[in-house]
Amino acid sequence: MLKLSAIGILLACGSAQAATQTVDCGRLLDVKTGAWREKVSIVVEDGSIKSVGPMGANPAAGHIDLSAHSCLPGLIDMHVHLTGETQKQADALRDAISLNPADHAYRSVIFAERTLKAGFTTVRDLGASDGLNVSLKRAIAAGSIPGPRMFTSGKSIATTGGHADPTNNFSHRLSHALGTPGPNEGVVNSAEGAREAVRARYKEGADLIKVTATGGVLSQARSGQNSQYTEDELRAIISTAKDYGFRVAAHAHGTEGIKRALRAGIDSIEHGTMMDDETIALFKKHGAWFVPTISAGRYVTDKAKEPDYYSPLVRPKAAAIGPQIQATFGRAYKAGVKIAFGTDAGVFPHGENAKEFAYMVEAGMPPLEAIRAATLNAAALLDQGTRLGSVEAGYAADIIAVTGDPLRDIALMQQVRFVMKEGVVYKQP
Ligand SMILES: [Zn+2]
Repeated sequence: MLKLSAIGILLACGSAQAATQTVDCGRLLDVKTGAWREKVSIVVEDGSIKSVGPMGANPAAGHIDLSAHSCLPGLIDMHVHLTGETQKQADALRDAISLNPADHAYRSVIFAERTLKAGFTTVRDLGASDGLNVSLKRAIAAGSIPGPRMFTSGKSIATTGGHADPTNNFSHRLSHALGTPGPNEGVVNSAEGAREAVRARYKEGADLIKVTATGGVLSQARSGQNSQYTEDELRAIISTAKDYGFRVAAHAHGTEGIKRALRAGIDSIEHGTMMDDETIALFKKHGAWFVPTISAGRYVTDKAKEPDYYSPLVRPKAAAIGPQIQATFGRAYKAGVKIAFGTDAGVFPHGENAKEFAYMVEAGMPPLEAIRAATLNAAALLDQGTRLGSVEAGYAADIIAVTGDPLRDIALMQQVRFVMKEGVVYKQP
């Protein structure tokens, strides 16, 4: 598997991978202690980190000189949609009518590469139709195309007319021709349907479950925040997901929908826009994670100012909900809610994921905590805390480098100079 992956990259990028490599870093951020280690050599073997020690102690073959750079663990974005990207409503409508799943699949190749080259070696893809995100994950894992390591939800699970119902706002004739989507297509209306939809995701090849607990901004529907599930339906999804080893992420903007998901035992709330003090207390009581996606809020706020970018249904929602997310994040952080880094990339252009760091710091989080949210915390939410999110022996060789000190200037995270994923170099200074 690993050999195949190396050959694939050799053909695609022309850069060879030695069996053992030494990465010399001017300094390395130990995300666990929060301290820089000066002049460090990282020995990489078969895609994993074999050792981390003082520079020069391991003069092995395949030496990579990053002595003028600051190294960090590969970054993790917990909320992306790699199989699509924002576009004007008229273009989106045209594409919805004329494109095939394969068109979307080919277009997503560049989105995956851009994300990886921005320093994100792992992502959680939270929703796509036609199994596109599952297929993209397989292509990347096989080494056929460069991209981040993916964990996918397959199709998001919605209710009829809810956020992620793929037939929202279609004409009656078109709806009739396409048929009513059911659990297999990720639309449910009962606890029984909810269980069936989770099992369909297992069959689809998903790694986790995504549920749309409230309305959303970009769906063609009136409310961006109404509750769209009964608590009983959410409990059915979460308990069934446990049987399959799936964690469950809930898209939620409105207060009541966030509360229902938290009481039902959700693992993470995505966006969490209208959380009040009682909601914050519920987060802490249940130990749930908050994935803020400030980047998406900022982007839709800007685009709502353009008259024809979003449809008349979407535009007022974007203007009302978008501006609230960053302030919510600031309150949640100060109150001690557990935070994992996530952007909703695809709502804005792929590859700009690292802007989120600056937004987090702007809202009151120290740079080190923002970097931990995209490494240690994200790895913990993925249940990969012993393999991803840190540069130490036994971990995957996911290493990035920047110039300067991002703990002093967090904007440096937007200029990643070097990217290695599982021992393969995808970007060099
Ligand atoms: Zn999303």
